[in-house]
Amino acid sequence: MHYQPKQDLLQNRIILVTGASDGIGREAAQTYARYGATVILLGRSEEKLRQVAAAIENERGYSPSWFTLDLLTCTVDECQRLAQNVAAHYPRLDGVLHNAGLLGDIRPMSEQDPQVWQQVMQVNVNATFMLTQALLPLLLKSDSGSLVFTSSSVGRQGRAGWGAYSVSKFATEGMMQVLADEYQNRHLRVNCINPGGTRTGMRASAFPTEDPQKLKTPADIMPLYLWLMGDDSRRKTGMTFDAQPGRKPGIAQ
Ligand code: NDP
Repeated sequence: MHYQPKQDLLQNRIILVTGASDGIGREAAQTYARYGATVILLGRSEEKLRQVAAAIENERGYSPSWFTLDLLTCTVDECQRLAQNVAAHYPRLDGVLHNAGLLGDIRPMSEQDPQVWQQVMQVNVNATFMLTQALLPLLLKSDSGSLVFTSSSVGRQGRAGWGAYSVSKFATEGMMQVLADEYQNRHLRVNCINPGGTRTGMRASAFPTEDPQKLKTPADIMPLYLWLMGDDSRRKTGMTFDAQPGRKPGIAQ
């Protein structure tokens, strides 16, 4: 995507990022802060979140808030408490990037471990739903809220071996569409990003033989992440976007 954001694109915007501890989420949190946003980091590892917060403080001169929440085990009450904690410190949310995700087993349906299946659904779908429900009141306080889910090419077209992950990403696309329809007359837009093959830990576990140097880095795909959080995408809702348009799914050649 060729997009030249203004340096103050996200000034005065408060944006929460899940899975901010690593990979694409870490890069998104740092990038949003660089473009002026007040970022709120969410993750399960206190140590990793501290490191991201310190990196942002080094660059921006302020330390962002961070909260731990394990999406594998979180309950409705924990999600509500998290939202209350955020509300105690911030008047609203202008953006939420649901980025955290679990890959699960890459193997045929007949061999998918039912326990791992449930874990993938728990993190990628159920917890994402519970967190969205808890954070919606804060998002609706913004005059231009942006709720962004993270999908995948296997969330639009099923592919052999991608089992629970693929099904969870179809569910993510569905969740986005339902919410976009429900809020189409309000100040909240809801969209999906498909990052496309990107150099992260998750990608390396999905394609262990792939040469990571042939992949875009999280930093390379940030233009779409910025565009969807800023006012330039204000009228867009109910849509699914590729961060790497034209890239063929599958192993990088
Ligand atoms: P990473 O594995 O690098 O990062 C995943 C993030 O999710 C980490 O911050 C991780 O936390 C967090 N997370 C995982 N499980 C939990 C949990 N139980 N509770 C809280 N946080 C959790 O993956 P990517 O950066 O590659 O993936 C980011 C998103 O992009 C995912 O939704 C993925 O499905 C999607 N995607 C990625 C592609 C790629 O090629 N990289 C392609 C298509 C989609 P921790 O640091 O503690 O492990």
